[in-house]
Amino acid sequence: MHIIVVGAGVVGVTTAYELQSRGHQVTVLERHSAAGNETSRGNAAQRSYGVVYPWADPSMVLKAVPWLFKKDGPLKMSVPPSMETLRFMFATLRYAWSPGLFGLNKRAMMRLGIHSRERFLALEKALGLRFDGGHQGLLHLASTPETLESYRETQRLLDELGIPSRLLTPEQVRELEPGMIGDGPLYGALSYDTDGTGDCHLFSRELAKACETKGVQFRYNTETEHLVADDRRITGVTIRKDDGTSETLEADAVVVSAGCWSGHLTRPLGLELPIYPVKGYSFTVPLKDPGRAPVSTIHDDNYKVVSTRLGDRLRASGFVELNDFNRDIPEARLATIRKSVESRFPGCADLEAAETWTGFRPMTPDGPAIIGRGPRENLFLNTGHGTFGWTLSAGSASVISQLIDGEAPSVCLDAFRPGRFAE
Ligand SMILES: Cc1cc2nc3c(=O)[nH]c(=O)nc-3n(C[C@H](O)[C@H](O)[C@H](O)COP(=O)(O)OP(=O)(O)OC[C@H]3O[C@@H](n4cnc5c(N)ncnc54)[C@H](O)[C@@H]3O)c2cc1C
Repeated sequence: MHIIVVGAGVVGVTTAYELQSRGHQVTVLERHSAAGNETSRGNAAQRSYGVVYPWADPSMVLKAVPWLFKKDGPLKMSVPPSMETLRFMFATLRYAWSPGLFGLNKRAMMRLGIHSRERFLALEKALGLRFDGGHQGLLHLASTPETLESYRETQRLLDELGIPSRLLTPEQVRELEPGMIGDGPLYGALSYDTDGTGDCHLFSRELAKACETKGVQFRYNTETEHLVADDRRITGVTIRKDDGTSETLEADAVVVSAGCWSGHLTRPLGLELPIYPVKGYSFTVPLKDPGRAPVSTIHDDNYKVVSTRLGDRLRASGFVELNDFNRDIPEARLATIRKSVESRFPGCADLEAAETWTGFRPMTPDGPAIIGRGPRENLFLNTGHGTFGWTLSAGSASVISQLIDGEAPSVCLDAFRPGRFAE
């Protein structure tokens, strides 16, 4: 089949790779001039298969209001909020208060995470890509005794799903992370032993290159204007090229992996995708003293900031902000992220000299991504991955390819069904 994938973020590129590996002819359409230039560009770099959870978390709803008013709090919102923001928040509350839904969705996401890890390992073995990545584990620090206690509960679910983890004392944490000599409070940590890291942008570009050598066609600077369909099938897509002209490309099937912008393409076919751009920030900086830097990824629960070692660089990332598609980077956000790094890894890098970034998590109001068949028999969706698109990309690419080929997916996709928002 000739399959068009719309979007060359990490999700679109991994999808193209899986489809090509299965013998399909694949064309990827991307409006930017290269792969991975939107949300996949500067994320926190965690492949946190053991940590995936839905956005609509009932316990977080209670913490959200105090967080909004705390100076260095992890949650921010524009005031007054836009209609889109309010609509998204109300939908989130509805899902958060649906009895039992959080647990079901969390398990579904974790099962997809386990599959994703398997697919990443296979892909890395097959292609040997270089993207400053590995699977050395992640540490979630506990800066209070209560947080440490809550990790025991987390471990029960990890044990249920067979995901290896360990509770560590502060001494054990410092053995694993000798650079952690800062004065941030530390009562211990939960180690997700088989989780990983990696530069998602580098991975997306390297994988796109590998796909090109295998025959996948990437058309950059090419905006998909709309999907061309009759009542039953998609027949192609209309694109606008960088010279301003339009063209219609024929396809046997289409996969929409256009992140926050996916809904524009499905709305004319009757499918609303309530994907909201949940903003976050990061900075990336060369290490000055690698011995003082993280060995792997550290989630600092004190500031809700993630610090990750990417080769000879540090990436630090934080914040969940409801501010529509605003791309400003306020100094106050960067200052909080710097504070977290300094409180754990002082002197590891010249943080003032960092390259800064902001991006939008393509978030669904309940939390699971949107993976499955769309409103036409040959239209497929792999989008709306919110906080965990890097982590779940390899797994979701695998299951959407299985669906396209008429196979039973390796992971149950009920929680991810595209039509659930209208139910
Ligand atoms: C601050 C921050 C930290 C994060 N940390 C992590 C983390 O540690 N681990 C993790 O797993 N995830 C993390 N994420 C989430 C992760 O980055 C995203 O889920 C993931 O990048 C989404 O990938 P995507 O391919 O779906 O979307 P994108 O990367 O946004 O790609 C979509 C692509 O579609 C293209 N496109 C859209 N519309 C069209 C059109 N009409 N025509 C042509 N092209 C189009 C866009 O240009 C874009 O390139 C984080 C996100 C943020 C913001």
